[in-house]
Amino acid sequence: GNNMNLPLIDRAKQHGNKIAIATTEGSFFYHDLLQTSAKIATILLNNIKDLQEQRVAFLIPSGFQYVATQWGIWRAGGIAVPLCVSHPQPELDYVIADSGASIIIAHPSFEALLKPIAQERNLRFILTSETLPEAVSLLPEIDITRRALIVYTSGTTGKPKGVVTTHQNIQAQITSLVSAWEWTSEDRILHFLPLHHIHGIINVLSCSLWVGAECDMLTKFDANIVWDRIIEGNLTVFMAVPTIYVKLITAWEAADRNSQNKMSDGCAKMRLMVSGSAALPVQVLEKWRNISGHFLLERYGMTEIGMALSNPLHGERLAGYVGKPLPEVEVRLVDESENIVSPGKSGEIQVKSPGVFLEYWQKPEATAKVFRDGWFCTGDFAVVENDNYRILGRMSVDIIKTGGYKVSALEIEEVLRTHLNIQECAVVGVLDSEWGERVCAALVLQSGSNLTLKTLRSWAKERLATYKVPTQIITVEDLPRNAMGKVTKPSVAKLFSAL
Ligand code: ATP
Ligand code: MG
Repeated sequence: GNNMNLPLIDRAKQHGNKIAIATTEGSFFYHDLLQTSAKIATILLNNIKDLQEQRVAFLIPSGFQYVATQWGIWRAGGIAVPLCVSHPQPELDYVIADSGASIIIAHPSFEALLKPIAQERNLRFILTSETLPEAVSLLPEIDITRRALIVYTSGTTGKPKGVVTTHQNIQAQITSLVSAWEWTSEDRILHFLPLHHIHGIINVLSCSLWVGAECDMLTKFDANIVWDRIIEGNLTVFMAVPTIYVKLITAWEAADRNSQNKMSDGCAKMRLMVSGSAALPVQVLEKWRNISGHFLLERYGMTEIGMALSNPLHGERLAGYVGKPLPEVEVRLVDESENIVSPGKSGEIQVKSPGVFLEYWQKPEATAKVFRDGWFCTGDFAVVENDNYRILGRMSVDIIKTGGYKVSALEIEEVLRTHLNIQECAVVGVLDSEWGERVCAALVLQSGSNLTLKTLRSWAKERLATYKVPTQIITVEDLPRNAMGKVTKPSVAKLFSAL
């Protein structure tokens, strides 16, 4: 049958004496991870005899304890529900209630935040500072087709949905990346991404632990600390989201010449630098290339499917493109009538792979809606050009229907960013009785500069078809973003409808 030890655990046994996790509190070996996770599994089983598929929510800063807890939940047969360290109490309560967690595990620094929720909802509450019991010698066997993880989507377009993946799904997501990006036990990665999201959980943490590599964990992102670690020169792989590359570029620009040289040298020693989770502006890619010598490998994925498209590890990468399907992943583009589009035409991305999630947690209707004949409908639009996929954006918020045209907000943003006075921007469609939707742009201007709609429009008309040129602009200090650093388009649209 499917009963077996978890592959991640079995593989860790082969790397017992290697460092798995390094933090400012010290280094932890794979055998530490195995030992502590077995004890955590035991404490869970002491609380609830049959933990099979019970949800265990946990809030622990990035580090050894986070990983040992996640593994402990899995080894006890539970479903891990990672909470976000930067979420306020109501959002934590939403995830705890929605997932129907029966146990909460918390780091003492979150006791005040979570204990009231546990009491109110009558849930078991375990602090990571509790003395751990001796591990039981026989942990339950785990069926890998069982549910393992509920990750809530970023909530970029609406309320976050609980995405359920099985152990098998997770394994498929990991092995596809391990093979495409050639992870080995010699690798060393710096982890500074949130751990309630698959970018941090799968791409960085789990891939590195799968191969017996070393994962150096920071509790949060700090541009100067990250640069210090890059300068040390012993990282081999680096993964971040576009906003983080922007922050690293800003810090590099603020540094003196001598430090800049050291920063660039540190980057040059790495074998791979990746960007994903949101569109990578070509300008950021170019700047990063000048600084680091690396042409960032951009990839596309989502909570529901893991990673699906990627530029090649070896071979030519195209700026503004997300490459081709990863190993074991099938991708197709379809039109509104579910017909595969002809080359060069845009369509919705649909994905089929062993990594695709099982269901939205307790949302059978939402789940049924996104699956068609075994294909998962991503709701993202793309086009294939030069044999490579280019992401046009989410159908719900990035594809603007104006005067009979369908325009990609991402494409317009890419052009607007090349304006000297514009530092960052977000383009949205706002309901309009005449045009259906109007193209509107929220702009963050370069400090000390200004821009009128009139000048922007005449500048933009030389670069974009007239129907793509914003009809309304608004300047803001910062764009509204969620915990993953992604611009939340519904909040941007509200800026205009409120006018
Ligand atoms: P929600 O589903 O709650 O609205 P979300 O879609 O942002 O939030 P995630 O699963 O974190 O939640 O993000 C996946 C989405 O991010 C994709 O569907 C896609 O729209 C976007 N995305 C990911 N990688 C890229 C990329 N390289 N370029 C452009 N967009 C990307
Ligand atoms: Mg989504």
